[in-house]
Amino acid sequence: MASEAVRQRMVQRLAAQQGIADERVLRAMGAVARHAFVDGALAAQAYEDTSLPIGLGQTISKPSVVARMIELLLAAPALADQPQGRLGRVLEIGTGCGYQAAVLSHVAKEVYSIERLRGLHEKARANLRPLRLATVHLLLGDGMQGYPAGAPYAGIIAAAGGADLPATWLDQLAPGGRIVAPVQSGNAGQALVIIDKTNTGVERRFLEAVNFVPLKSGIA
Ligand code: SAH
Repeated sequence: MASEAVRQRMVQRLAAQQGIADERVLRAMGAVARHAFVDGALAAQAYEDTSLPIGLGQTISKPSVVARMIELLLAAPALADQPQGRLGRVLEIGTGCGYQAAVLSHVAKEVYSIERLRGLHEKARANLRPLRLATVHLLLGDGMQGYPAGAPYAGIIAAAGGADLPATWLDQLAPGGRIVAPVQSGNAGQALVIIDKTNTGVERRFLEAVNFVPLKSGIA
């Protein structure tokens, strides 16, 4: 299949140019057909390192950002001594087209993914149906409330950024777990933040600048 070869080249670039080193991430990125999650007219660009529109004013993140965030999630304290380990339950805020949820299903035991826009929730359902991923649970709701029924989570990953992280996410994080999310960083714009829940408290670290769609409350 032509897309398979193009996808493997994307994976090689993620490793060689973007510094993605975690084999679990590279395997997962190689396993999911990104072109199947975007409009037919955009499919030819699906393996370039670019974000793409998915409807309702939202975008699918570029592959390098998806890979980077999942690599950070897998580096959580609880998995630090398990280079081949799998995450337990993961919560994704912002299902969008369902692409990242599919990638996450290759590195986590269960994926709970929540989307506030009904149109995208349904699009993700349709995109994921043929993949028959029994461990991916799609939810329509306000991700700012988290999803208490699946808590505690080994990891929480957000695809939309607000002024700060909702306190519910930290409440729903397991000890040893990690949050990876974009957040407003003063006047400097958005940055990626990682938050680790350790036995002694909470550690927060700001990383590189990013550019995500806004985190909004309520369902629409
Ligand atoms: N991971 C997605 C990226 C989608 S873009 C993918 O692979 O396609 C981010 C998504 O976050 C948008 O669809 C937006 O509607 C959603 N979003 C924003 N605020 C939200 C909230 N409070 N709860 C759930 N989803 C939210």
